[in-house]
Amino acid sequence: MKRLAFLLAVAIAIGVVAAPAFGNLKIKDLSDTIAWGHDTTEVRNTCQMIVVHSNYYAGGDRSQWDLQGCIDQFYRYGVAPHYMIDRQGTIYRLTPDSLVAWHAGESVLPNDTIAHLNYYSLGIEVINSKRYGPTNAQYRQLARLINALCDQYDITHIMGHSDIAPQRKTDPWAFSWPRLEALLSHRARAARTWTTQ
Ligand SMILES: [Zn+2]
Repeated sequence: MKRLAFLLAVAIAIGVVAAPAFGNLKIKDLSDTIAWGHDTTEVRNTCQMIVVHSNYYAGGDRSQWDLQGCIDQFYRYGVAPHYMIDRQGTIYRLTPDSLVAWHAGESVLPNDTIAHLNYYSLGIEVINSKRYGPTNAQYRQLARLINALCDQYDITHIMGHSDIAPQRKTDPWAFSWPRLEALLSHRARAARTWTTQ
């Protein structure tokens, strides 16, 4: 019992217990290793909306699905999402939910009411290309992550990057919103708003 209490104290000390509890959804937390691409002050607003993105590694010297390649690419641009989902469906946390991550850039809600959406949204990057859409595992895990976030926070909008920056952005690419929506919880589906597709 003493040993359990000790382990719990250690877990609290290193922040394991403080991370958002997403039930049995496994998330590999890399946020300690991502020192760029976010504001360092915590704000409450980041958990109001979810923006879905696509990206792949364009360097050519590694697989376009290479996780580290994608992360290195973010580093070069000084950007980062909150989450990234690889081709196998593994979910990685790159930025804590409570921090403003630089994933959306110049952006505005389709009804023009709110701009600078980095301040209001969690960004999820799915590793896929214009030619190859998300895998079954990615759709499944993206839905599980969105459902968990909608259980945890009062999410009012779920959108694609192209919905909020239509002049500049076309992602998520080769993406089926109906396919994702079929996997969403009732609560999450209610938050799914505009789409350009
Ligand atoms: Zn994007």
